[in-house]
Order: sequence, then C-alpha cells, then structure tokens
Amino acid sequence: TERLLNDREKLASIGQIAAGIAHEIKNPLTSVKGFLQLLKESQSHPYLDMMESELEKALDTLQNLLQVSKPDLADESFVQIDLCKELASILSLFQEKLYNVEVEMDLRDSERKANGKRNLFLKAFFNLIKNAFESIQGKGKIRIEHYYKNGWIHIKVSDTGVGISGDKLKMLGTPFFSTKSEGTGLGLTQVFTTIHEHGGNIRVQSIVGEGTTFHVQLPVK
Ligand code: ADP
Ligand code: MG
Repeated sequence: TERLLNDREKLASIGQIAAGIAHEIKNPLTSVKGFLQLLKESQSHPYLDMMESELEKALDTLQNLLQVSKPDLADESFVQIDLCKELASILSLFQEKLYNVEVEMDLRDSERKANGKRNLFLKAFFNLIKNAFESIQGKGKIRIEHYYKNGWIHIKVSDTGVGISGDKLKMLGTPFFSTKSEGTGLGLTQVFTTIHEHGGNIRVQSIVGEGTTFHVQLPVK
C-alpha cells in the first residue's frame, strides 16, 4: 500500500484550532510550573517532583502542538544542512536500541547538503527515525539512504518493523493519531508540515509484517 501525503487543508484547519487551545493552556501551566519551582526552594516533598515532571510532559506536548500547527512561528531561515553528519547525530540518540536494531546508513556522498530550516528539519528526521525504531519489535533493521535525482534530493527511511495497514495509512499525519500506548500522535504531523513548508513531498509505502519506507523529496535550491 502506498500513499502520497498532502492533506494540507485538513492539517491547516485542525492545526489552527489546536494551536489556539495549546496557546491558551500553555501560559497558565507555565506560571503553575514557576510557582511550583518557588515552592520547591522552600520545601521538599516527593509529590512536588512528580507534579513538576507531569507538568513538563504536558508542556512538552503543548510545545509540540504549537510547533506542528504553526511552523512559521519558529521563524527560522534556510541554511545548508550537512546531511550525513546530522543524520548520524540523530542516530546516536538511539544508542541503547542498537543492540537489537541494525542501522545501515548511506555514507556515499557524505558531503551532501540539504537546504532547510535546521531545527524543524532535524526534528522531522528525528521523528521519522524514532518511529522506525519503535516499529521494530525484537530484532530488525533500519536503512537510511539519500540521493539526488532530477533537481530533488531524496531521503528514505526504511524499517523492517510491524508495517502499517491500509486504514491506518489514511490516518497518518492527523494530529493525535497514534497506535502506541505512550504515543502523542504529533510526530508525523510535524514531519508532514515541515516537509511541505520546505516545498517537498513525502510518500509512505508499507507492508504489514514486513516494514515501512518513508520517502522524502526536497527541492535542491
Ligand atoms: P506516535 O509515534 O506518537 O504514535 P506519530 O505521528 O509519530 O505518533 O505516528 C503515528 C502513528 O503512525 C504511529 O502510532 C504508528 O501507528 C504509525 N507509524 C508511524 N511510523 C511508523 C513506522 N515506521 N512503522 C509502523 N507504524 C508507523
Ligand atoms: Mg512518533
């Protein structure tokens, strides 16, 4: 099953509502966190630490939500991104998973540069790679490749994970769609928004039980 992911309008309208809510909740939560920190200066109680870490989770979700729904808020400029170096540093964040997962990364053309908004771009590939790791139960493989073709730079992230069935494929990128007990369902929303913001395309190909490939195409500027 294959799908080209370009539901720009759907994302935009859900995103606007979500961003509005996120913004309204974020401010009061941020002040609660500030008062909590003041409280912790004068007394200690395990509940205070728990409250702080739960608040941080909520703020993190809201931050993600704001970022996916209003990527232009990040207000970054386009820079040259050193592809191999940055992908390698993203991979290094998953060190503890490498015992079960074999990673194959294309190091030909290690000087290859992509043009993008660095933070958004890295976050998008972090999200794709994280999903790839999470799709693998037990042992498996992840493969990252990149090449130039017809004025586009292609980057593919493939895994030998659980795969995605046809009905779930339709849901990908919808904010909060997640099949994971600890998932936020915001990762792919961020990915899609960012790739579109860069004038690119993203396609997904998946076979249940065999694995998934996310194929990103970005214009070479
Ligand atoms: P989350 O990872 O928090 O669940 P995402 O937006 O990153 O949210 O992904 C949404 C859903 O898409 C996942 O819950 C999963 O069902 C599916 N998915 C995404 N990437 C993959 C993948 N590489 N393999 C299998 N399923 C995937
Ligand atoms: Mg994810």
